[in-house]
Amino acid sequence: MNVLERKVHALGTHRVIDPPGSMPQSAHKLDNTPVALENEILCEVETLNVDSASFKQIRDACGGDAAKIGAHIQEIVRERGKQHNPVTGSGGMFIGRVLKIGERLRARIDLQAGERIASLVSLTLTPLAIEAVTRVDVETGRVWIRGKAILFESGLWAKLPKDIDTNVALAVLDVAGAPAQVKRMTGPGMTVAVIGADGKSGMLACAHAKVQAGSGGRVIAIAPDTNTESAQLLQQAGLVDAFIQADARDALAVSERFAQIAPELADLVVNCVNVPGTELSSILCAKQHGTVYFFSMSTSFTAAALGAEGVGKDVTMIIGNGYAEGHADTALQTLRDHPQIHEYFNRKYAR
Ligand code: NAP
Repeated sequence: MNVLERKVHALGTHRVIDPPGSMPQSAHKLDNTPVALENEILCEVETLNVDSASFKQIRDACGGDAAKIGAHIQEIVRERGKQHNPVTGSGGMFIGRVLKIGERLRARIDLQAGERIASLVSLTLTPLAIEAVTRVDVETGRVWIRGKAILFESGLWAKLPKDIDTNVALAVLDVAGAPAQVKRMTGPGMTVAVIGADGKSGMLACAHAKVQAGSGGRVIAIAPDTNTESAQLLQQAGLVDAFIQADARDALAVSERFAQIAPELADLVVNCVNVPGTELSSILCAKQHGTVYFFSMSTSFTAAALGAEGVGKDVTMIIGNGYAEGHADTALQTLRDHPQIHEYFNRKYAR
């Protein structure tokens, strides 16, 4: 049956082609017909921010070649009707201009055709049709396209802020769940470890952890290189108290070095890496009854659950929800509150 003939559902199930009866996120294939049904928003997409774990996997598979990466992404979208990386299972988000709002939705939302928005739901459930990939930024995972996307009635979106560059907003909003959740999980006096600290979500997480932990707390960063511009910035701006240069896949080395700096171990470990195999180092850096927050899309449930059991760690493990109430505002506000991070994001992403 054509999508135009199906009964619409707020969660977008009417767009599922395969397997029938599944939800849009878990579906293999969606109907990406670029028309706004009565409860949908049709957008002209400008840029995709492919999530870091997914983009790294695609970049590696394509040998870092921009043209091949673009073709690979087009092929995924042609096959699935959405940018849902079959290897990592992750997506990203988009920025675009509203073309049409379905008649049943129009009166209920504060949005007009012509306005520019960022999607705040994953590309893994967003019907997307790509006409052409016009540019790929191999360094940052952004992909400029000509194409159209559909947001469901239940889909989250945000109008783009006037005081922050569009491409910077795109980068920050993609990882907005992390700063919002780290902000509410960190309390005064806590020791917080941030693994993958010098990446997008890691930097924003460090900024919130430092403010919340206060002068009695400590933020300890872990990343492969303490000399990157972002790692240097975190140290110079006083957003971390110590920086461990280490590969988080080496659980023993990381945990031993962490214990030298913080023998009491961490109350909260935040995992923001874009590679698999870092579950155990996260668990080993947490104290007994501490919390490990896995924001990384490369996290394996099995490795985390069995790894914690295997080393006898009674820790609370949290899946990093991409959504938290007010997450877009919190993430963007981080840039306003920390001009050095804002300037760094401008240098790296505003192009
Ligand atoms: P990013 O900017 O690419 O940062 C990744 C960080 O991980 C970098 O600091 C990188 O260091 C570090 N890293 C890589 N390999 C490492 C290793 N072996 N040991 C220690 N650190 C390592 O990524 P992002 O955009 O912040 O995203 C972080 C993760 O969150 C990704 O897995 C992404 O897919 C995921 N994500 C989750 C959600 C959600 O809803 N939960 C939403 C969006 C994204 P170098 O730069 O030095 O390599």
